[in-house]
Amino acid sequence: MPSDIPGIHHVTAIGSDPARNLAFYTETLGLRLVKRSVNQDDVSVYHLFYGDHGGSPGTSMTFFPYQNARPGQVGQGQVSTTQFLIPDSAVDYWVDRLAAEGVDADDPHERFGDTVVPFRDPDGLPLELVARADAPAGDPPAGPVPADHAIRGFFGVDLALASTEWYESMLADMGYEATAQAGDRQRFEADGDLGYAVDLLEDPQAQRGAPGAGTVHHVAFQVTEEEQEAWRQVLTDHGLRPTEIIDRKWFKSVYARTPGGVLFEFATKSPGYTVDEDLDSLGDRLVLPEWLEDRRDEIQAGLPALPSR
Ligand code: ZN
Repeated sequence: MPSDIPGIHHVTAIGSDPARNLAFYTETLGLRLVKRSVNQDDVSVYHLFYGDHGGSPGTSMTFFPYQNARPGQVGQGQVSTTQFLIPDSAVDYWVDRLAAEGVDADDPHERFGDTVVPFRDPDGLPLELVARADAPAGDPPAGPVPADHAIRGFFGVDLALASTEWYESMLADMGYEATAQAGDRQRFEADGDLGYAVDLLEDPQAQRGAPGAGTVHHVAFQVTEEEQEAWRQVLTDHGLRPTEIIDRKWFKSVYARTPGGVLFEFATKSPGYTVDEDLDSLGDRLVLPEWLEDRRDEIQAGLPALPSR
């Protein structure tokens, strides 16, 4: 088996209005826009990447904001909630901040000993802040949220499933260990600092999810370039039909649809978002992989206006 996976690399979701998406993730949540590009499978749509200052693996929430996207339905067969990690001293700050910003949020509650603050983005995407004393200091962006309180990156994801059996065995092979269980929620944790939790929620009666704005498209786990082909084989051994290795410019990716419906990706940590932009200017301008560069004018003309920095 290849080396244990430390956690999530990125989570990609579907949004609608790109300007509203940009404002929410950078101004309200204080993440940094670390890459401004296009959906490589549909260049009429942006691909916006938010993260910590350097866009480290484990911090990057990305969106395909389709201007006129219809709302999706969050449900079975999807990542049903995406969780960000904050220090436990930052809970009051965030409760006040979300209220002051008019964010659709619920009261904090406890889960497995941690304080959890549920809220939704402007498209209704379910998000949570999970507060832990051992949150790493990380590399917070310079922005509206003071570094002490900043989102560190991902905590984890919930997967809504009719049956968790396949996932338990796959996560075990990925190096995750079962650490907690309550009701229909089973927690698995990897050994990394960020994005290390996966909670499996088993409910055969739950309504099936439907893609659209406010839903997650896929979750990507971190692998090394050396072991990516070995992970393809593990996916095959688990009965899936993974894609070939696809070069996404900032990482290389293998995708596979899992039996419960969730799309998994295995993405490389390298080369990262600084491969084509300086650290200081990440996200400032539209960047395209070189195989799309000769179509830049046409692509740019087809995209909605978005404030530049
Ligand atoms: Zn991805």
